[in-house]
Amino acid sequence: MNFVLLGAPGAGKGTQAEIMKARLNLEHLSTGDILRAEMKAGSELGKKAKQFVESGSLVPDDLIISMIKAKLQDLDSSKNGFILDGFPRTVAQSEALDKMLGELDMKIDYVLYFDVDWEVVKERLLGRRVCRQCGAIYHIKNKPPKVEGRCDICGGELYQRKDDTEEVIKNRFEVYKEQTAPVVDFYKTKGILKAIDSNVSAEDTYRQIEELLKNR
Ligand code: AMP
Repeated sequence: MNFVLLGAPGAGKGTQAEIMKARLNLEHLSTGDILRAEMKAGSELGKKAKQFVESGSLVPDDLIISMIKAKLQDLDSSKNGFILDGFPRTVAQSEALDKMLGELDMKIDYVLYFDVDWEVVKERLLGRRVCRQCGAIYHIKNKPPKVEGRCDICGGELYQRKDDTEEVIKNRFEVYKEQTAPVVDFYKTKGILKAIDSNVSAEDTYRQIEELLKNR
């Protein structure tokens, strides 16, 4: 089963993808995570992406499309499918994805649209902390680690993403409204979009996904 997760920054896509990955045995492809890894490694792609990622703007479509194409051509066959998290983010990316999937004889079964309010996004992103080592996600209030600043799973150092500051968050939300909201309409027209209320806790959000899969 293959999924696309759509929604504003802070809507909970990454958190739900982690839960789905573990419970449904899926491969998690997060374009944000891939870009951050490329930046950390100092690769050509990482160097090109840096200024866009740090200011909260979108990385150019051609870079993202070829990056994701390589990942789709190299999927782990022991998994039950994949989750695209953070891609597509523009209508051009959605069209490119359709083309790629056609060529690879694959399809998307569900597009989950995480619907969330701005105030919730702001609170979530300002308090978000991420493990530098394994990528696990925490929140200083809603999901604090057992030991401050350290990951419960691997003991790695927790850090605040550079783009999780109030100014950059505002820009990312604006970019989302302008460029990614039309992607929601793109999939609505195709009839595979399912809306999920993600103003609630991570468990309550996942419960809605479970219900949806039960009724399929
Ligand atoms: P995320 O971790 O999904 O919030 O993504 C972090 C940043 O990576 C975004 O603000 C963009 O700069 C960049 N990015 C991630 N995915 C995409 C995409 N599909 N298209 C363009 N830029 C992206």
